[in-house]
Amino acid sequence: MALDRGDAETRLSVIADATDVCAICTARGGWLDLYFLDNDARNFRRSNLIAACPLCRSCQSLHRSHAAIEFLPVWVTEIPQIAINRLTRLLHQRLISAGETPIIDHRNRPALDDQTTRDLVSTYLALANRNVRLRIILGGYAPNARDLVTLFYAVDPGRGSCPEKLSVGLRLLPLGRYVVDGRDRYAAALGVEPPALDAINTDLVAA
Ligand SMILES: [Zn+2]
Repeated sequence: MALDRGDAETRLSVIADATDVCAICTARGGWLDLYFLDNDARNFRRSNLIAACPLCRSCQSLHRSHAAIEFLPVWVTEIPQIAINRLTRLLHQRLISAGETPIIDHRNRPALDDQTTRDLVSTYLALANRNVRLRIILGGYAPNARDLVTLFYAVDPGRGSCPEKLSVGLRLLPLGRYVVDGRDRYAAALGVEPPALDAINTDLVAA
């Protein structure tokens, strides 16, 4: 959706004022964009706007055309979204910096020397398993992120907001992709650089 000029200027000014820090998880670096405190993306009053990173904006990004491959809905009542985002960011930054893909599942576990990162991988995969819990709660199907939009509008046709009984445990697990103009820009969105190819080749030769 294209913004009118006043809203576009407001957006830039909110992001500039954030000085590179996500207002929700306090991560530094990477991309920031608007987060609407009242969940209404038409309300550009300054008091309704903060700047947040792509992980913290996930609940307001479900309409994105690639949302289904970017975020996995999971049922985790005991861990808040902000903690899931911090853990995932730490894990994904470590994987990308080590030249690994951040896109992992049980069949595609990275071979890692570092025990801390291996522990983070195990925790992340345990969280991913919680998608199955949603199948039980929703009565038969485990939704992807785009399915949630349909579900929310079925319950609340006006605003499509998350139903109260789901908001206590519904979380979004970042899947290690963020597609912009057809390209995966996840590493840039997190503000982390993969190692240069030369460095990887040198390591292989040294090993
Ligand atoms: Zn954040």
